[in-house]
This record gives sequence, C-alpha cells and structure tokens, in this order.
Amino acid sequence: MKAKTSRTQGSRYYPKRYDTNPESRDAILDEGLVCHVSFNIENQPFIIPTGYCRIENTLYLHGSVGSHFFMQMAKGIPVCVSVTLIDGLVLARSVFHHSMNYRSVIAFGKTREVTDSSERWLAAERFSEHILPGRWEDARQPDPGEMKKTMFIAIDIEEASVKFRAHGVIDDEEDLERNVWAGVLPLKLVPQVPETDEAGKTGLPIPEYIRHYSRG
Ligand SMILES: Cc1cc2nc3c(=O)[nH]c(=O)nc-3n(C[C@H](O)[C@H](O)[C@H](O)COP(=O)(O)OP(=O)(O)OC[C@H]3O[C@@H](n4cnc5c(N)ncnc54)[C@H](O)[C@@H]3O)c2cc1C
Repeated sequence: MKAKTSRTQGSRYYPKRYDTNPESRDAILDEGLVCHVSFNIENQPFIIPTGYCRIENTLYLHGSVGSHFFMQMAKGIPVCVSVTLIDGLVLARSVFHHSMNYRSVIAFGKTREVTDSSERWLAAERFSEHILPGRWEDARQPDPGEMKKTMFIAIDIEEASVKFRAHGVIDDEEDLERNVWAGVLPLKLVPQVPETDEAGKTGLPIPEYIRHYSRG
C-alpha cells in the first residue's frame, strides 16, 4: 500500500477515529458482504453496490460479461470502493448528539480485468468462501461455460483509510440529568432460520456451515 495522499487524509474532525493499522482494514473488508464501487463516466459519477472478496491487497468483483457495470470495470479505470459495518446506534439525551458506531474502509485503486485462468478460478473460490465459508466444496463448482460468462475484476488497493466509532454516548453536561434514556443499541448481522428450497431432493440436512453462519 502506498503512503497516504490527500485522498485518504481525514479532516480535522476526530483524527482519533482513523485507524492506520493495515490489519484493521483487512478485518473490515473480510467481514463485509457488500462494497460500493464509485466511478466516473464522462463527468457523471456512478455508484454500484456489489459483492467482493479480498485476496491480500486486492479486491475482486465478479459479474456477468454482459453487464454494463462490468464492461466499464474492464476498461481499467480509477475507482473508489467503500465497505461499511454498522455496530450500533448511539442514543444520546439530545438529538444533536445521536450517532452510530461503525467501522468503514474507503479504498482507491484501478480496475483490471482478470484474464489469467488460475487467478480467475482463485477469485471464484475466494469470492464464494468470503460470502459463505464451506459452500465452495459443497455446491457444484462453475463449469467452463459458466466461467466464460463471468467476468472477474481485480482492484489492487493503492491506498485506503479506515475510520471507526466504537464508544458510548457523548452528551452535553447540562443534558445529563434529563429524563431521557441514553445508551447504545448494539446492532449485528444475525442469520434467521434457513428456508429450504422445495424444488429438488427433500429431507437433506442443513449443513453445519449454514446453521452456524456468522460474520465477524
Ligand atoms: C448486495 C448486493 C450484491 C450484489 N452483488 C453483485 C455481484 O456480485 N455481481 C454482480 O454482477 N452484481 C451484483 N449486484 C448487482 C449490482 O448492484 C448491479 O446491479 C449489477 O452489477 C450491474 O448491473 P447493470 O450492469 O445492469 O448496471 P448498470 O447498467 O451499470 O447501471 C445503470 C443504472 O442502473 C441502476 N442500478 C444498477 N444496479 C443497481 C442497484 N443494485 N440498485 C439500484 N439501482 C441500480 C443505477 O441507476 C445505475 O446507474 C449486487 C447488488 C447488491 C445490492
């Protein structure tokens, strides 16, 4: 990762909320499920939410070769990618001091269409494992025809910033005695009961890796 430039330099507000540890960046990227990719076409900014995975310093996206978005990505263009995890609602006694606990990454890089077949296969496997560890070995893996219909895009991270908020309420002194409940409502992505598809064989057990799915 290159040194920080003005692209990733936080403003004067809350410098303590920036985390320069590369492990923090990777932990957020590995916990997230969806990233938002922003890019410009002829001075028009676009942003697209999409799945991704990280392999070392590179983010991988995959999608249909016929997708307009992926056709843009294949051109080798500068992008800005963000991943945000919400950890809680911070409920102060005053509306003004309400906030959220969060961890987020903003990364910059240039897109590259992946053409090497082993890198494409690795990206496919790691993408699947990023979303649901255990699924790659269990489900049927992509055949050559399916791989041909799929485009893989790599984004080598040039630089990134990590920002977070991870503490309680900060209220004005004069509001502390108000009769208003204050505190943090922690939030977490928690799976609900799996819903079995009825189209095929029935009675198959729900795999452990699905029953015990969790993130972070
Ligand atoms: C959680 C999540 C995960 C996804 N994962 C993948 C993935 O792994 N691979 C993949 O190919 N796609 C994924 N998508 C779909 C992705 O957001 C795009 O819709 C798709 O990649 C590109 O479609 P397109 O080429 O038709 O869009 P474009 O033709 O490039 O988009 C044109 C316009 O369509 C609208 N549009 C496109 N996508 C969306 C959207 N999601 N929501 C609202 N408006 C939209 C926007 O106005 C956009 O400017 C995911 C979406 C979500 C929400």
